[in-house]
Amino acid sequence: MRLPQQGMRRLRMGRGRGGGFRWPIMLIAAIGIGVYYFSNVKENDLTGRSQFITVSEEQEVALGLQSYRQVLSESAVVGSGPEVDLLRRIGADLANAARALPQTAELANKFDWQFNLVQSDQANAFCLPGGYVAFYTGILPVAANDNGLAVIMGHEIAHALLRHGAERMSQSQLVQLGQAAVGVAAGDMDPGARQAAMQIFGFGAQVGFMLPYSREHETEADKIGLDLLVAACYDPREAPALWERMGALGGGQKPPEMFSTHPDSGRRAENFRAWMPDAVAAFEARCGALPAR
Ligand SMILES: [Zn+2]
Repeated sequence: MRLPQQGMRRLRMGRGRGGGFRWPIMLIAAIGIGVYYFSNVKENDLTGRSQFITVSEEQEVALGLQSYRQVLSESAVVGSGPEVDLLRRIGADLANAARALPQTAELANKFDWQFNLVQSDQANAFCLPGGYVAFYTGILPVAANDNGLAVIMGHEIAHALLRHGAERMSQSQLVQLGQAAVGVAAGDMDPGARQAAMQIFGFGAQVGFMLPYSREHETEADKIGLDLLVAACYDPREAPALWERMGALGGGQKPPEMFSTHPDSGRRAENFRAWMPDAVAAFEARCGALPAR
C-alpha cells in the first residue's frame, strides 16, 4: 500500500490512479451505516440484549420455510419409525413448553413447528425460523438418550426463538455495506491496495464483530434451551454431559459446521455449573424429584 508522503502528494489524494484512501467518503458512509444500525436495533425480550435486525418475523419465517423445503427435497427424509416418533414427541414437548413460557409464547405461537429426521452420517441438527426442525441420524448416537435429544432440540429451538438467524443475516448485510463503502473510499488506490483495504476490513469485521456475536448466540441458546428443557420436564443435568459428548466428536470426523463457532468447552461447562442449581430447583418444583445420578 503506497502512502501519501508530502504536501503535493496529499493534494493528489482522491484523484487519479494510485491515489489515497478517501477518508471523507468513508466518514460519511460510516455515519450513514451508523444511523441505519441504530434505527434497526431492538431489545430482545428474552435476553434484554439489543439486536440489530432488518428483516421482519414474517420474512424470516418465509425464508425458513423456503430453506427447509430445499434441504428436505435434497435429503433422504426418514418417513416413519420409532426414531421419527421419538423426535416428534420430544419436539412437541419442547414446542409446547415454548408456547407456554411468557417470554417465548408470542413467537412460538406464530411458528408452524415441523420435525423431520434425515438419514445422514453428519452429527447435525437445526431449527430454522418458523420452527422448522431437522435432525440428522448421525447426531442420534451423540444424543444417546431422550434427555440428550431434548438438550439438542432445546438449544436449536432457542436459536430460532432468539431470532439469531435474522440477526446474523442483518449483520452480514451490514458488513457487506461497510465493505462496499471501503471499496468506494479506496476507489482511487491501485487495485492491489484497494483489494488489501477491503480484505483487512472484511477480516476485522469477522473477528471483531461477527464471531463474538456467534459465540454470544451459543451461550444464549444454551441458557434458553435449558429453560425450555426444565419447562418440558427433561433432566437439565444431561445438558453439560451432552455438550461434553459433542465436544469429544473428532478423530477424523471434523466438528459439524454449526458447532464451529460454539464457545470453548471450558466456558460452556462453567456456564452450566453456574445455571444448574436454579435449573434443578425449577425442575423439582415443577416436575418432582430428580433421580440420583
Ligand atoms: Zn448453537
